[in-house]
Amino acid sequence: MTITPLMPVYPRCGVRPVRGEGAYLFGEDGQQYLDFASGIAVNALGHGHPHLTKAIADQAATLMHVSNLYGSPQGEHLAQRLVDNTFADTVFFTNSGAEAVECAIKTARRYHFANGNPERHTLITFDTAFHGRTLGAISATNQAKMRDGFEPLLPGFAYATFNDLEGALALIDDNTAGFLVEPIQGEGGIRQASHEFLTGLRKACDEHGLLLVLDEVQCGYGRTGKFFAHELYGITPDIMSVAKGIGGGFPLGACLATEEAAKGMVAGTHGSTYGGNPLAMAAGEAILDVILEDGFLAHVTAMGDRLRQGLEQMIPNHDHLFDSVRGTGLMLGLKLKSDSRAFVAFARDHHNLLLVSAGENVIRILPPLVIDESHIAECLDKLSTAARVYVPAADD
Ligand code: PMP
Repeated sequence: MTITPLMPVYPRCGVRPVRGEGAYLFGEDGQQYLDFASGIAVNALGHGHPHLTKAIADQAATLMHVSNLYGSPQGEHLAQRLVDNTFADTVFFTNSGAEAVECAIKTARRYHFANGNPERHTLITFDTAFHGRTLGAISATNQAKMRDGFEPLLPGFAYATFNDLEGALALIDDNTAGFLVEPIQGEGGIRQASHEFLTGLRKACDEHGLLLVLDEVQCGYGRTGKFFAHELYGITPDIMSVAKGIGGGFPLGACLATEEAAKGMVAGTHGSTYGGNPLAMAAGEAILDVILEDGFLAHVTAMGDRLRQGLEQMIPNHDHLFDSVRGTGLMLGLKLKSDSRAFVAFARDHHNLLLVSAGENVIRILPPLVIDESHIAECLDKLSTAARVYVPAADD
């Protein structure tokens, strides 16, 4: 392989977007694409949302960055709004999802340290999980494709099978700090935690003095039609990582925690030069204004139901290719009977529809949360037209 100025770690597909507008992206070559990938669940408000772009422009002209060593009225304000609307009592702002996960891992370890139990450092995590690409995050991910060649990894993780409650509980020992789990696995292929599994983990944490750490980087921030996916289960975590939708395209993440779980995170224990800077906070405020508007989450649920129904109706007409639909709200997965990567490429190159593949032959459908019926109809039409003419490769 030859080196390129941009480190060649991505398999590029060649769309090369230069402009976005609502649910559409425009390529360098003038092609228009229906964007049902949203930068992998990031562009919650679509592209170029006026409230978000104005907030960023105004803040950039006023004050872009100051050190976290000074007071942060902007950070305090957004943190207060998050606290007012969630289980959390306190927030640490980051620049990405992986950093939010790192902060969550550190907060969990430091909780047990503060309680005089530094040996309780191990988080039980789950096969097919994804928590990011930093060393701590890949250590929490039991997948060779992300770990090979990067050893030695961080000790302090034990791996159970997703949705196997008994298997997870069997791993609890004197070193256990808690569980780290996505309520809906995104990269794993839109695999949703069962009610029994997630509520069972919560119960085990309460019984054993452990922490429930939820990674809602992909499934949180309105994507399921709830502000956070754990609300679907009637439980709350002790610590939660958030990113993607929270910035709507601005690089922003956050670690949220209860007062009790954050008891070890005192002055000097953690930090970030950019985390929570005024520009990021302006983006976060603008997104939150829209997500918390009356009726917004109900709109996500309605659009999710409509899209799901359309996909389910389409399956019997293309049952050589499509298998089943999974997920909640606008975090949907369409399982294929052949290679999902090849079909995603076909839909992109021949029908100008952007999707993302994941897990075992699953297409992730993650549109902007602001889509309407017309976008759904266009997506379904493009999908069924593509399915009609698509021929899977012989060895799929
Ligand atoms: N956790 C989950 C559940 C994710 O889906 C992702 C990103 N796909 C991450 C963490 C990492 O986020 P980032 O790429 O912003 O570091």
